[in-house]
Amino acid sequence: MKNQESKRMNFVSFIVRNYKIIAMIAIVLMLPSVYFLVYMTGGITYSFSHTMYIPIVLAGVFFGPEIALLVALAAGILLGPMMPLDTELAIPQLFINWFFRLIIFLVLGFISGFAAKRLRLSSEKIRSLMAYNQETKLPNTNYLSCAKAQFSHESYAVFTLLINNATNIGDVLGMEIYHKLVHQVYDDLQASFPKKSLIIQADTNKIWLAKPYYDLNLDAQLILKAISYSRIINGIPLYVDFSVGAGLVHDGTDCQKLSTYRVSDASARFAQENNLPYVVYDDSLIRKRSEYDLLATFTQALADNETFLVYQPKIDLETLKPIGLEALIRWQHPEKGTIFPDQFVPIVEETKLIHNLTNWVLKRALDKMWEFQRMGITMGISINISAKNLYDPQFYDRTMQVINESNVAKHLLELEITESVLMINPEASKTMLERFVNQGIHIAIDDFGKGYSSLAYLSQFPIDVIKIDKFFMRQIIQNNSAREIVKATIQLAKQLGYKVIAEGIEEEEVMKLLRTYQCDYAQGYYFSKPLNDQKIIEWIHQHT
Ligand code: C2E
Ligand code: CA
Ligand code: CA
Repeated sequence: MKNQESKRMNFVSFIVRNYKIIAMIAIVLMLPSVYFLVYMTGGITYSFSHTMYIPIVLAGVFFGPEIALLVALAAGILLGPMMPLDTELAIPQLFINWFFRLIIFLVLGFISGFAAKRLRLSSEKIRSLMAYNQETKLPNTNYLSCAKAQFSHESYAVFTLLINNATNIGDVLGMEIYHKLVHQVYDDLQASFPKKSLIIQADTNKIWLAKPYYDLNLDAQLILKAISYSRIINGIPLYVDFSVGAGLVHDGTDCQKLSTYRVSDASARFAQENNLPYVVYDDSLIRKRSEYDLLATFTQALADNETFLVYQPKIDLETLKPIGLEALIRWQHPEKGTIFPDQFVPIVEETKLIHNLTNWVLKRALDKMWEFQRMGITMGISINISAKNLYDPQFYDRTMQVINESNVAKHLLELEITESVLMINPEASKTMLERFVNQGIHIAIDDFGKGYSSLAYLSQFPIDVIKIDKFFMRQIIQNNSAREIVKATIQLAKQLGYKVIAEGIEEEEVMKLLRTYQCDYAQGYYFSKPLNDQKIIEWIHQHT
């Protein structure tokens, strides 16, 4: 049954694709056929000659007036001088007889061809009118079916751009300004992706872009770079907030189907719901979804104090006494149990929620330091800072406000920042760090050695402490070069005036080695695992 159905579909699509050739063959065959029909039935006296209208009208409908006139001329000659009035008696036609018929054929061919052509032109005009958005004059989803020649069989990337603040802009400034804005976004995209790409306005707040596949992440970033800036429209600076979704299409001709964009639409919605600039659709989106479900509950978790801090001591390698603590976040999930930061901090870091997280950690750490201070213990705490924090223009003010509200001495606070974060924008991070350092706050470079920057390069930043990544401590016993790197780093860092701390110390042997290299401080399970609120106080009492 299914086989028959698909055969029928193939046949229909064959006819649709080749209808012009089929019509031409039919016309060419019909001309001599009608001639023979009229001849065999006794000549033009009998009314079979009217059959000749069919190929003439067909030619008009399918090929326009010019071809129809040619067919009419051929038909007029076949049924004119070449056709006797009576075949048996061999009586020829009068000139006026066949000439008048020829004129009628020509008129019929011209009228049918002309009418069909007009009809076709106006239907094309309607179609093209429908293919453009009336307000913005930009191509819309109907345009996809018109853009036939656009797509080849290679892989394509499709993108959905959602304008998140469309309603806001429209409500406050009016739709006219909003439409102008959409047009500008469209122009920016077209300037960035000129070759073989197709851009359409799929909805009031939605733009689709299809282009030959290259790299989804890179293209999504290029799109955001091209469109994310504040525009001046009618003298008003406007910031447009976008969520971009990306998807891959293996056969480019599918780009003409509306359903193809469902993939990028879903990714864009996902990006929108989770405050992400862009999301690339892949198999891991399903996995990501569960991660983001976790994210959805994170705000509440912070408010409900499901999160808590643990503290890991940092030890002076000369005196073997603690010189400070690192605060590390944990999440006591009601169903999932204790969740470690590696499982949620990277997701939180992709969203604005990282500001809430860091702020929460800062407050807690300051509270803890205040608690120590009241107990007569001077104990500094370092907290971890994310890239998003450092490059947030409000980060400094917000952080200083919290610090100033507490009674803790500023020099007890240390911010740990990974070297890779500094390298995103060295100039901006340098300025930001200087502001903190001017307030007496210390800066440590976390995970040093994981990135590619040299100590000499880092010397331009106002840094106090270099924290050598735990990766090297795992290797240091067996691996000669790891040992040499650690030794040289410690030497150079000290020459440059930094304090050096090694993290991830699990064995006595490693600790001893570091002492011979004159490393200042160390941190790791060998001394203590990160401890909760209560246990850290006991530990400090025992070790000071
Ligand atoms: P990190 O800043 O490099 O923190 C050190 C990590 O190494 C901690 O993992 C710590 O528990 C672990 N560690 C300490 N001593 C040893 C050791 O001897 N051996 C081994 N194998 N590991 C050791 P944790 O607490 O799971 O944190 C993981 C990462 O999560 C941190 O790496 C940091 O990047 C991030 N993180 C933790 N808390 C926060 C936070 O409050 N804010 C931000 N932005 N990130 C945080
Ligand atoms: Ca750290
Ligand atoms: Ca580290």
